[in-house]
Amino acid sequence: MSDAPTPLALHIARLIEETGPITVSQFMGAALGHPDHGYYVTRDPLGAKGDFITAPEVSQMFGELIGLWLADCWMRQRTDTGTPSPFRLVELGPGRGTLMADALRAMKSVPGMAAAAHVHFVETSPALRAEQEARVPDASWHDRFADVPEGPTFLIANEFFDALPVRQFVKTAQGWCERHVALADGAGAEAPRFAFALSPVPLKDESAIPQGARGAPEGSIAELSPASTAIAQEIAARIADQGGAALIIDYGHARSAAGDTLQAMRGHGFADPLENPGEADITAHVDFETIAAAAKAGGCATFGPVEQGRFLAELGIQARAEALARTASPDQIRDIGTALQRLTAPDQMGSLFKVLGLLPAGAEPPAGFTGS
Ligand code: SAH
Repeated sequence: MSDAPTPLALHIARLIEETGPITVSQFMGAALGHPDHGYYVTRDPLGAKGDFITAPEVSQMFGELIGLWLADCWMRQRTDTGTPSPFRLVELGPGRGTLMADALRAMKSVPGMAAAAHVHFVETSPALRAEQEARVPDASWHDRFADVPEGPTFLIANEFFDALPVRQFVKTAQGWCERHVALADGAGAEAPRFAFALSPVPLKDESAIPQGARGAPEGSIAELSPASTAIAQEIAARIADQGGAALIIDYGHARSAAGDTLQAMRGHGFADPLENPGEADITAHVDFETIAAAAKAGGCATFGPVEQGRFLAELGIQARAEALARTASPDQIRDIGTALQRLTAPDQMGSLFKVLGLLPAGAEPPAGFTGS
């Protein structure tokens, strides 16, 4: 390790010395969420000075269109007794609160909607909670989705699921063995370096491995995110029972497949996931097939995933960009064009990012998902 060991590296090394190798999921969970030294707990990672940038930080158009999507779903759930009011407007992992502030502004064009909404943020980072409060002061904050009070639930999660820990399994001649993180050869707890290792004991029951990965050749890696499936099922159960809708947006694959997608970002570049834990963002691609199956098990109808570029196009991002450009300076017009490209072009965020919609069972395809 080139830098001095991070406090979290020392902590993890001591843990490994005392109790043996840990799972990739334990390593990722600690790197991101350790209560004192976790990456998200100690900083605001977004923006030019941070480690990465997200769609709502690229342009206000993103949050506005999502606000209008939620508004459309809300209006379509009108019954004889009216639209679902009051309702929970929930965001998981809201970052700086930018998406919600933009969505709320767009919702003001829908009579009664903003007044019926109470914003609930699910956020574990004290640093980011402060950012969110600056932009959406009337919100309530929770550590877990399960703590959001019951009621009709309209929910958004952008780049939240990629931050939930994954377990990794390596296909060997003996079967699927869990990938561990151990101390590298010759490294002690005072000057720790980490290396991947394998559990010597294969999984007894292969059915835990996503079906699309099971036939992969030896050496392949399969990923499971138990936290992701649990949360997807919980959200779906809430919406199936009490009404509402959810949009899950993230980078990932539409079909489960083998592959090592663990990656670390530091200062807008890729880094080694095992180096400097607590100082780099660690993520994994989202397995939308498994998330959708969990949401169905929770009782919802699922739509997509569709590619983000196509979704935003169907919601009218081109027209929104033109409307913004009409009152903009030449510099601003150039920025709007750049943002539009960044959000929708296939070689930027348009294809890798995907959108999954959840609605109560029996619902018609919502905007953005027609024909999916
Ligand atoms: N949605 C935002 C931020 C994405 S970064 C945007 O698009 O800009 C991931 C967000 O999820 C951060 O706010 C982070 O603090 C939060 N987060 C990560 N793991 C979490 C967990 N287990 N529970 C709650 N929030 C979490």
